[in-house]
Amino acid sequence: MPVPQERKLVTQIPGPKSQELHARTKAAVSAGVGIGLPVYVERAGGGILVDVDGNQFIDLGSGIAVTSVGNSAPKVVEKAKAQLDDFTHTCFMVTPYEEYTAVCEKLNELTPGDHEKRTALFNSGAEAVENAVKIARSHTKRDAIVVFDHAYHGRTNLTMALTAKNMPYKKGFGPFAGEVYRMPMAYPYRWAGDEATMTDDAFAAFTNAVHAQVGEENVAAVLIEPIQGEGGFIVPPKGWLGRIADWCRENGIVFIADEVQTGFCRTGDWFACEAEGVVPDLMTMAKGIAGGLPLAAVTGRAEMMDSVHSGGLGGTYGGNPVACAGALGAIETMSEEALAGKAKRIEQIFRERLGAMAEKHGVIGDIRGRGAMMAVEIVKPGTTEPDADLTKKINAACHAKGVVTLTAGTYGNVLRFLPPLVIGEDLLNEGLDVLDEVFTESL
Ligand SMILES: *Cc1c(COP(=O)(O)O)cnc(C)c1O
Repeated sequence: MPVPQERKLVTQIPGPKSQELHARTKAAVSAGVGIGLPVYVERAGGGILVDVDGNQFIDLGSGIAVTSVGNSAPKVVEKAKAQLDDFTHTCFMVTPYEEYTAVCEKLNELTPGDHEKRTALFNSGAEAVENAVKIARSHTKRDAIVVFDHAYHGRTNLTMALTAKNMPYKKGFGPFAGEVYRMPMAYPYRWAGDEATMTDDAFAAFTNAVHAQVGEENVAAVLIEPIQGEGGFIVPPKGWLGRIADWCRENGIVFIADEVQTGFCRTGDWFACEAEGVVPDLMTMAKGIAGGLPLAAVTGRAEMMDSVHSGGLGGTYGGNPVACAGALGAIETMSEEALAGKAKRIEQIFRERLGAMAEKHGVIGDIRGRGAMMAVEIVKPGTTEPDADLTKKINAACHAKGVVTLTAGTYGNVLRFLPPLVIGEDLLNEGLDVLDEVFTESL
């Protein structure tokens, strides 16, 4: 039975059944696993999440940019179900299967660049990033990894080191992996210098710092999100990515694009690098890849991917056959339903609606993003001073009115929107009506 595409609140939020479940969660689940909105989901599809009390929420989060094709998308379910009936696991490294190879073929074809490519599959974004670093080090025989302010790359030991933000990702979890160097990022909204020369100035600051502090000849890879995700949907100025990619090539450094959040039509192209014609050497992918099933990938230049000794990459579950079948279904859905175009249309709607809200509500300091990856930065009116408390309040008020929103940002003051690409326009507009109402009521 399809999930009705309608917002509906029938109890207080969270409702009594969710509260009961949450009491069990508190007694059974580690307190270290934080929960944004404790309504327990029973069913989901299109742009709606249905909770155990019968409340229906407009989903502007997609489980953090994962269910871009919608929850339980028909093609994902059909292919994953068929695979469940055939077999659930062999370990690709023991006895392989076609689905894994088919996903790798697809990613080699869809990722930017027409050079010879290879792919390896993993379970999570963090695992993909770790493996991209392993590959870059193996290929270059160098150690240093260069990352940026505001970066987010995961929660494992190496990826914590690569991630910028202390709280909640790193606090108390050190010591961290070595040979990681953090460099300044071009952050247009908070750029103190001359806007006209921002790309040049930021690029000069970056190359000077690498030269002085690390030495180009020691750098295995530069790792960057084409649009920073958890850092606050920071879209770098035009030319920034390309300049870094060119500089990497000139210095024998592997350019790794972390497209874990931006990939799979989210930003209006298959991958965010395409908007600027940038071709990465290695690319990490996860979130949107398989309609909600856990899968991740590294795709890259054949000579880099093949530089690793046999047995050096892999894992027990990496490229699980059910997840691979789901990915083939998700990718087919993205092509057939032209979801990259849908993402562009979603951006138009957001820009129009958020622009009108910014005129009324002085707390909206910046509107930014690309495709269906949009955000507003909440500040003290008339300044650029972050207002994290108000951001939290607005986020919670959206939840109470049946709209699932997320926050982000180094300063905790970014409200971000990642709707499923299949969301209906009426539903999306209703979600934005609620947001407008919340802004009016919270100020
Ligand atoms: C979410 C994310 C990761 C980590 O992915 P997990 O699947 O949570 O390990 C890495 N990089 C980026 C850019 C992300 O958004």
